[in-house]
Amino acid sequence: MEVQIATNPTQLKSYISGSWTQGEGENLKVFSPYNGSLIGEGPLASESQIKEAISSASEAQKSWAQTPIKERTRVMFELRRILLAEQDEITHLKCSESGKTFPEGKAGLMKGIEVLEYALSLQNLDIGGRLEVSRGVSCEYRREPLGVVSCITPFNFPAMVPMWTLPITLTLGNAVIWKPSEKTPLTALKLADCFERAGLPKGLLSVVLGKKEAVEEICDNEQVQAISFVGSTNVAKSVYQRGTAHGKRVLALGGAKNHIVLLPDASEDISGVGISDSFTGCAGQRCMAASVLLAVGDVEGHILKIKERAQSLELGSTMGAIITKEQVDFLKGAIDDAVAAGAKVLLDGRESSMPSALEGGYWIGPTILDHIKPGSIAATKELFGPIISIIRCKDISEAMKIQNSSEYGNACSVFTSSGPAAEKVVSMAQAGMVGVNVGVPVPREPFSFGGVSASKFGHGDITGSHSLDFWSNLKKVTVKWEKQNDNNWMS
Ligand code: NAD
Repeated sequence: MEVQIATNPTQLKSYISGSWTQGEGENLKVFSPYNGSLIGEGPLASESQIKEAISSASEAQKSWAQTPIKERTRVMFELRRILLAEQDEITHLKCSESGKTFPEGKAGLMKGIEVLEYALSLQNLDIGGRLEVSRGVSCEYRREPLGVVSCITPFNFPAMVPMWTLPITLTLGNAVIWKPSEKTPLTALKLADCFERAGLPKGLLSVVLGKKEAVEEICDNEQVQAISFVGSTNVAKSVYQRGTAHGKRVLALGGAKNHIVLLPDASEDISGVGISDSFTGCAGQRCMAASVLLAVGDVEGHILKIKERAQSLELGSTMGAIITKEQVDFLKGAIDDAVAAGAKVLLDGRESSMPSALEGGYWIGPTILDHIKPGSIAATKELFGPIISIIRCKDISEAMKIQNSSEYGNACSVFTSSGPAAEKVVSMAQAGMVGVNVGVPVPREPFSFGGVSASKFGHGDITGSHSLDFWSNLKKVTVKWEKQNDNNWMS
């Protein structure tokens, strides 16, 4: 389906304490990566408006914390109904501001809904525990919310990434201040509208439009207890440091440089599709995209298949756009630099054409760079575009040495038909998410999402069971009503 891009720009407002509020900060303009047209405009929230959102969240959270989880979950059931009913509208919106194709946009929303479904199951599965630990003495677990928390999100998954956090933390009884990317505020405001119509009490979710200063206010504000951040590594690290310096719990997911180990015994069909789709999907703008292909031995037939599939993509139809013109220029420069450093270009996206109606947009085609040297920029830096760098390796050990020298540790995959070879890569890879014959090894719920090294600052994962302990405290209650006659230290 073709992405529908609004012809009239949306007037952007923040959603503060249950009201659609005109910002008092600098003016923001949002352009569609598809054709460069203005699709949203309005002022950012000011510091005092963010403070107001946090204070009213703190008030609203007190009664939400006292609301039984089954009642809180009813809001999330209604939210799911609304999201499914309006999935096409939401998908058009998120694609028009992030550059995704319609199927990619839909898939991201569905993955977000899958996390929502995990949150729906908490009322039945996360029921604490109670045990008589001594005669007449019992211990019990109670999960208690933290209070006001925050979620700071990137442009590249405008619905999925916030849905990693919002349903779970709200279901657990917290109130949230959400600071979406300034590049994709339209989806954020639409989702806030869905939460409101689902019946979420006022003040429990505020969406503040802002940039760096808004993030700093959230990190410094003493009423905010915990922050989930997803974005580039430098910002993730600074948010982690600033938030924890103010005594907050912070889980900050950063960037990535994902490696794929390709062995000669892999199926050419499976690896051709899997590797091509991994580096071209979302135009390479995802933290799980393949970025370096560690080609072990003779894999020429496989590389041909990867190239054929990537070459068949059509910009604006089967492949999406890049978020900004500056990023397109950066990617073209990175290709120029790699060529100057000796790379052979097997497929050159700098010259790809797009339909004339989309010429004002931000485009670059799939690019395959061969004979990249380990340690070079194309081999080590996160480029965040549809570019794959091939490094030739003599064996798995050499490939794993390169993979494990990366500062990042988000994903690593191997394509092979050998169980022992796959196990060797899985066990050696220093990465949080590892795949076998899967180009984008994103774990599906209830398996949690998270990398290691410079791809994540903080402990635990952002979804799954780890997220429950991140967004709550476990209170341990020990009870005795009668004096006991037995002879142990609890009597
Ligand atoms: P970004 O770091 O530029 O922005 C992320 C958020 O931080 C946005 O809300 C932005 O407004 C805010 N921000 C930007 N600069 C800031 C600063 N100096 N101080 C404080 N806040 C700041 O990231 P992006 O370009 O929106 O997203 C792409 C990046 O996100 C890539 O590096 C990608 O790998 C990463 N990412 C990681 C994951 C993961 O799960 N590890 C998932 C998605 C995206």
